[in-house]
Amino acid sequence: MEITNEQLALVNSRIKALRKADSFYGKRLEEHGIDHVDSAADFKKLPFSEKKDLRDAYPLGLMSVPEEEIVRIHSSSGTTGKPVIIPYTKKDVEDWALLFARCYEMAGVTKRDRVQITPGYGLWTAGIGFQAGCEKLGAMAVPMGPGNTEKQLQMMMDMESTVLCATSSYALLLAEEIEKRGIEDKIHLRKGIIGSERWSDKMRKSICEKLGIEAYDIYGLTEIYGPGIGISCEAHDGIHYWDDYIYIEIIDPQTGEPLPDGEWGEIVITTLRKEGAPLIRFRTHDLSRILPGDCPCGSKFPRLDTIQGRTDDMVKIKGVNLFPAQIEEILRTFPEVSSEDQIHISHLDGKDTMRLYVETNGSVDFLDLAKRIAERVKSRIGFTPLVKVVEIGVLPRSEKKTKRVIDTRYE
Ligand code: ZN
Repeated sequence: MEITNEQLALVNSRIKALRKADSFYGKRLEEHGIDHVDSAADFKKLPFSEKKDLRDAYPLGLMSVPEEEIVRIHSSSGTTGKPVIIPYTKKDVEDWALLFARCYEMAGVTKRDRVQITPGYGLWTAGIGFQAGCEKLGAMAVPMGPGNTEKQLQMMMDMESTVLCATSSYALLLAEEIEKRGIEDKIHLRKGIIGSERWSDKMRKSICEKLGIEAYDIYGLTEIYGPGIGISCEAHDGIHYWDDYIYIEIIDPQTGEPLPDGEWGEIVITTLRKEGAPLIRFRTHDLSRILPGDCPCGSKFPRLDTIQGRTDDMVKIKGVNLFPAQIEEILRTFPEVSSEDQIHISHLDGKDTMRLYVETNGSVDFLDLAKRIAERVKSRIGFTPLVKVVEIGVLPRSEKKTKRVIDTRYE
């Protein structure tokens, strides 16, 4: 999706503010001699930024306004090394609540709803974002925070909560506890706002059935406000994002080249209105694509497809970017194959070759199954793999996360 003139004007106002501030981005833009962008082509020349850059700016190197304008900080935990600190102005905090309120509205939540919030409060952006958005909308927040399942269920019954905000794993845990206790008739939930972890269709179905809810995927990351920059709608076909506050590009993670709508790649985000810590071309390492065309729900906000994992998982074969989640998604449409599979990529006779090993029980025709899987991969992804069907139990299993992709091309 090309950047619009309106978005460019906002980018220029951010560049101006960043140049004025002696922050990480201000210095970087100065180094590159950039003080404005005139066109979409100019925009594409702006340097990318990475989580590492943000970490190097620890603690307050991203702060791009005088400190008296900062009202809050949040932090994304690093599994390695220092965390990232994101400073927010009063306007940033208000804007985030507004974006989050839009998410609730997109999910059909109203002022009459009672919203049970189970994500954590604190340095993390999760809980407080759900809370502020709920208050902005005018619904009643039930701010539980995580854990304490006993109390969660008691409040859910007593307060007659109608909306559950949770990660998919916690929603499943609650669903199973409710079933175990046989208290389904005391639960009044109708909607679930589920955090952006990747979850399978099977898990979604189980949560929705057990809780009696319609579930919506919410997207966001601490570096860009937090959760609430996008959410799925009633059509459940992708995530609408708020393009008046953020500009999203999809790039080829290897070359950095922007990709056309419909092609899978890495999500890169530029904030258009953030003051405390504006970000320019921030590489999220999340994999998705922009869905072309209009959504059946009628919303004009553009859509990202469901996040398919991280760019670290991706491989390039015959010029096509591929990631294991895509193959797994296709295999899940074949009920006769087990959950174990392996992808081998090799270089044979001058060509990239993909062999896909799948397991099934003895009751199906192996050759026919292999042919059908190969055809479906070809039609969905664009090239034909060699599919090898084996008996259940043949592929290696391990306690650790099994390595599903074996790439021997560069060995
Ligand atoms: Zn829609």
